[in-house]
Amino acid sequence: MATEAEAKRSVTTEYVTSGSKRMHERARSSLAGGVASVARAIPPGPWPYPIYLDRGEGSHIWDVDGNEYIDYNLAHGPLILGHRPPELTAAMVDILQTRGSTFALGHDLEYLAAEQLVAHVPSVELVRFTNSGTEAVLAALRFARGATGRNKVVRFEGHYHGWGDPIHWSHRPLVAAAGLAHAPRAVAATNGIPESYGAELIIQPWNDLAVLERTLRTRQHEIAAVITEPIMGNCGGLLPAPGYLQQVRELTAKYGILLIFDEVITGFRVGLSGAQGLFGVTPDITTLAKAIGAGYPVGAVGGTHKVMDFVASHQITHAGTYNGNLVQTGAVNSAVAQLARPGVYERLTALGDRLRAGLLKAASELGIPAVTTGVGPMLQIWFQEKAPTNYREAALGPSYTQGRQELLRQGLQKRGVMLLAGQFSNWYISTAHSEQDIDTTIDRSRDAMIELKDRLA
Ligand code: PLP
Repeated sequence: MATEAEAKRSVTTEYVTSGSKRMHERARSSLAGGVASVARAIPPGPWPYPIYLDRGEGSHIWDVDGNEYIDYNLAHGPLILGHRPPELTAAMVDILQTRGSTFALGHDLEYLAAEQLVAHVPSVELVRFTNSGTEAVLAALRFARGATGRNKVVRFEGHYHGWGDPIHWSHRPLVAAAGLAHAPRAVAATNGIPESYGAELIIQPWNDLAVLERTLRTRQHEIAAVITEPIMGNCGGLLPAPGYLQQVRELTAKYGILLIFDEVITGFRVGLSGAQGLFGVTPDITTLAKAIGAGYPVGAVGGTHKVMDFVASHQITHAGTYNGNLVQTGAVNSAVAQLARPGVYERLTALGDRLRAGLLKAASELGIPAVTTGVGPMLQIWFQEKAPTNYREAALGPSYTQGRQELLRQGLQKRGVMLLAGQFSNWYISTAHSEQDIDTTIDRSRDAMIELKDRLA
């Protein structure tokens, strides 16, 4: 068995976080909970306060105590070009100094950004910009309901589509309270949402075509849309079974139901054309955010003329003071132009594969069962024999229930590697990550796994 000394090998000499502790104490007296989002609340572990950051550069971040980390959190995914990417930063400074931040009137950057999304994302013939992924999803739901004249929306258990009332349901319900596996009940993900919103949702298990087929066939005249993350990015990057998305596409088309891909995570992350390009499945409506702005706050909702013409003709309202502002659309223009350069996704995928292989090799050498999920530069590790295929398998498996992945995350944090907390999140890789970053991460992960092994024993 590994010794304590061996496991400690790569711990930063003294992992001090007292500055974060102090800042959290101060922040709590004015900022609710000391954080700006529930997703940043105190993660489990020995540090009962969140880490406060000083700065980032490329693939690295520094906290207020001077600890340096290789960053795989990447601001929950958006920073696909890393922190402060020079070309994007220069473009943004230039826009702010020479043009402005927002006009709420037309300008060239918004149609240039729109043209880029139309050019790269197969389902997007017309697009509108929003300020976040949540807004993009809310718009998508309205567009689908407006275009079909129907109310019900099918959503899958364990997916996340932002925190809007009509859709923030059955995100991570307690399995015991969520009904039968083949007929899950709608469980509000927070207090404060009226029950009536849940009545407009039909919750389904993901990756189960037979159940979905029955639902769509029997309730087709009520259903406006099926919304899905094409890869379950909010359940640790679970993949669709081979052919599943194609068949969902065929079924929705057959029954005249719109298909929405929520590509807030996967769009411009798993490839220039997102998961829809990767799997060769074209939905009717797509939501985008995160990577399209590479760190600047922007979302987008786009789709076919059949749907978007209702928006273009103002039969369906989409509004917003900041929609399409110069910061958003300037960021999209610069970020997407950089991502479209030859070889970008090949390199991101190679880095992801290198990390996966290294993590699995380390686990295997230590005799710890492990599998990885995700695609290219989004991945997750599960310390169990088999990858889950849906939310319930994930939520009931030992990697999650015994907090095995969480132990790895904590071990990595004190060794200078920052992950987004939680088994149901992802490791994200940016163009700024180097092979050296990946190899260092694998070494530190091996050391953290030695500790994990001791805990499992
Ligand atoms: N949809 C998906 C798939 C997401 O992962 C998220 C956020 O993580 C959202 C929607 C909401 O996006 P935002 O946090 O920008 O509101």
